[in-house]
Amino acid sequence: MHTPDSEGYIPFIHNYCDRRCERCRFVRQCRVGAVEVDDVGEDDDVVGDERVEDLHDRMKKLLGLSDEDMAAMEEVRKEHEDEPVDPLEEAREEAAMAEWQRQQEERDRQVDAQPLSVMGSTYLDLVRAWNRPREASFMARGVQLHPRMGMGIPVVQRTPEVLVLSEALQEVLWFHTMIHVKIQRELHGKLEADDEEDNALQSDWNGTAKVCIDGVDRSMIAWDTIIELLPEEADDALPIRELLRRMRQELDAVFPDAHAFIRPGFDAPGGG
Ligand code: SF4
Repeated sequence: MHTPDSEGYIPFIHNYCDRRCERCRFVRQCRVGAVEVDDVGEDDDVVGDERVEDLHDRMKKLLGLSDEDMAAMEEVRKEHEDEPVDPLEEAREEAAMAEWQRQQEERDRQVDAQPLSVMGSTYLDLVRAWNRPREASFMARGVQLHPRMGMGIPVVQRTPEVLVLSEALQEVLWFHTMIHVKIQRELHGKLEADDEEDNALQSDWNGTAKVCIDGVDRSMIAWDTIIELLPEEADDALPIRELLRRMRQELDAVFPDAHAFIRPGFDAPGGG
């Protein structure tokens, strides 16, 4: 699973990482990372735009398709576009889609009722509510809240303390949405697997839980740093940190085998 494909990319590595491509050592061996790097100008922080031709190129690169492949796909699409519609077949497809939708909504309700899901969305809300009123003052003192927003910060403000605080805040802000999203995905996957009695160690939900646990651990360390550097924030920050600790306990209880999942690239011998 760690072996790069014929173009040098490690298959599925982007599914089980922290998505911080700007600091990832696999950026040139990952289809998603390669697109990310090409979208950002090294000197001017310019991110690739969303023009149709830009999206077309990104899709090609992500899927590893050639111009000929894209032309063939377009051809097939046009052929189907011109085919006469069978009303019976259309009705069957609509009914199947409606049934699929009903099952998804039922699954969403089951996931929303899980304690982990409630913890993930509560954490998301708490971090947003904590950060929003402080954002302007953080930025005024030179704190860099996003990796791509550091260009305008005067050198004089870049003290070691501010740099460490910036790093901690970036970790918290990066992971607070990711933790919520990963919890949803791993719970959905686990419920489906329970229905099908599929409990494979190398399942997507187990790998997603491993990434989620890593995000929770790193966020707890980041909150410790924030509280150490900004002791006046302890009263508001400690309950948020405590929620993470409980979330970690729950993750261990619901996904006891997550640690055994082998992530492509990252968990290869020497991958770290
Ligand atoms: S594996 Fe690395 S380069 Fe690829 S998406 Fe994840 S963080 Fe980005």
